[in-house]
Amino acid sequence: MTQLTVIPLGVGDAFSALYYSSCLAVGAGDDWLLIDCPHPIRKMLKESSETSGVKLDVGSFSAIALTHLHADHASGLEGFFYFSRFVLKRQPTLLAHRDALERVWPDHLAAGMDCLMDLEHQPKKMAANEYFEAVALSETQPHEIDGFAIECRKTIHHVPTTAFRIRLGDKCIAYSADTAFDMELIHWLAEADLVIHETNYGVHTPYEKLAELPPELRAKMRLIHYPDSFNLETSVIEPLRQGVIYEV
Ligand SMILES: [Zn+2]
Repeated sequence: MTQLTVIPLGVGDAFSALYYSSCLAVGAGDDWLLIDCPHPIRKMLKESSETSGVKLDVGSFSAIALTHLHADHASGLEGFFYFSRFVLKRQPTLLAHRDALERVWPDHLAAGMDCLMDLEHQPKKMAANEYFEAVALSETQPHEIDGFAIECRKTIHHVPTTAFRIRLGDKCIAYSADTAFDMELIHWLAEADLVIHETNYGVHTPYEKLAELPPELRAKMRLIHYPDSFNLETSVIEPLRQGVIYEV
């Protein structure tokens, strides 16, 4: 039987003083996908390796699946791609919906990455495909990579954002990404064996709404992207803990 492993590398929101930003490592055997990539990704991976006993670093991942371009989800891409190029000499794959993908280079990464100096200090113009392979995720067809099948679905958020369902064999995990409360999205996520859902203030999903969901759905739901003030002990839905292994 297939076993999917999820390690939350961060569980907090953009303002957290307690946790790293929300980010997941999803794996089966030696194959790992990184779901979002906040800074400082290598420190997050090192610390989760110590607590989980599963040694992970940038080189463990052949692909990153990006939910959206807010910095608390995407600020580690520059470091991840520079480390991949200069240290690992490899080119990872970046998977995202085309609405995020078309802005990731010109509006997010190019300012810090589109010029490299050689040892004679001569500038060289760099293109996105010299660092990573960009692959657009479709809303109608799963994308297959390393045995994983990834599906995406738009969420209700400030900038183009997608939730994911990730299948491997007979197992499936789903991640809401950042979203307002959206019952249709929750139905889409609920097919999975494990549903990881965000909760926060403002335009995010209120905890109270999730707490009203049927008990059988809450039982396979875990919370992420919670504010520092969130009461982990009284929550009727189990909050994910940073650096802990979850097996599905
Ligand atoms: Zn966001």
